[in-house]
Amino acid sequence: MLSSNLVISNICNFILMSTTPKVFFDDENFRELKSFLQNNKDNYSSYFILTDSNVHSHCLASVLTKIEEFKELEILEIEPGESQKSIEIAAQLWDTLLEMKADKKALMINIGGGVITDIGGFIAGTYKRGIDYINLPTSLLGAVDAAIGGKTGLDFNGLKNQIGVMYNSQGVFVNPVFFDSLPDDEFYSGLAECIKHMLIALPELWNTFLTWEKSHREFVVEFLPAMVQVKVDIVTKDPYEKNERQYLNYGHTIGHALESHSINCGIEIKHGVAVAWGIIAENMLAKDLGYLDASTNDTIANCIKKSFVFQPVPQDFVEPMIEICTHDKKNENGEIRFSFLQAPGKIVAKQKASVEQIKTAIANTVAFLAND
Ligand code: NAD
Repeated sequence: MLSSNLVISNICNFILMSTTPKVFFDDENFRELKSFLQNNKDNYSSYFILTDSNVHSHCLASVLTKIEEFKELEILEIEPGESQKSIEIAAQLWDTLLEMKADKKALMINIGGGVITDIGGFIAGTYKRGIDYINLPTSLLGAVDAAIGGKTGLDFNGLKNQIGVMYNSQGVFVNPVFFDSLPDDEFYSGLAECIKHMLIALPELWNTFLTWEKSHREFVVEFLPAMVQVKVDIVTKDPYEKNERQYLNYGHTIGHALESHSINCGIEIKHGVAVAWGIIAENMLAKDLGYLDASTNDTIANCIKKSFVFQPVPQDFVEPMIEICTHDKKNENGEIRFSFLQAPGKIVAKQKASVEQIKTAIANTVAFLAND
């Protein structure tokens, strides 16, 4: 009896360990990264760094000088941008790893934004049925969101993140020094996810944000660990997105529809800017449906309007955006589902809204952002 209990408890520990993200907050000397590599020196035969050309020129030198003492390393560089999350690039990377004789004990070190950690995690999860990898997110969006939680993958047939594996890294090394070279539009793309995390789970920090008088960059550097922890806590509780992980889709149902339709029309929009737009629209909907009070809705909408630069969204976007919402992965029984904010720190998943109600919220958001 005792021994079977023991076995069960070991299995539970294994499950917990394998799905809990290990996040380290690093400094300009990369102490945490160095200590990880030192402690795991004998576990790995070689290091393969995956990065993109932007990150290579802005960020790589500072890391390389700190880690080249440990082992020979190879750099795999791809072009920047979402188009790289493709099966063709994945095949080239598998090919290169084979040519370079990367074995089962190779370690992938993904250094970049969400594109690099998504494709790098996918390559690690599939090459020789899985090798270890670590992530060094260099964009704010990567640090608070993409690099954490084991979702990896590629875009396919024009649709985002259609092919992938859930495969956790051995560690995520968050280091705000990388943000020094991050362009403003990329910074604000990440700030939208920070706002989402504050609204989901950090009501006091949200109040601080509302009255913050220094720059947004200073805010992020000061409070980054708390905002990263929101993602860690949620994916630890619900790694496979059955419940709480759906909170992270707040702002993303309508935001994703705006992002996808803009891209289809050849209009560039940053993911986070679309999410910020989506937060305003989904709050309007939540208010109309009685989930959120009018004054909280106004406070959030005004703060986001003041912080972000939005391009005008034409009224003829409404129908195609609704069409995209009908394909959202959270939908159930043909109904569009949302995670609705009820108050900062209080959110509810799996709530439905009708097409007419969503249309009204989108139209109201377009009108609200058009007014000065
Ligand atoms: P990205 O990786 O394309 O990076 C944005 C741009 O910033 C790129 O041009 C990159 O070269 C550049 N860059 C990154 N760090 C820099 C730095 N420190 N200095 C200068 N330039 C830098 O995009 P992103 O916004 O980081 O991530 C978006 C991707 O993340 C999308 O593909 C999205 O699907 C994915 N994502 C994944 C998850 C997940 O859970 N796996 C979650 C959210 C987003």
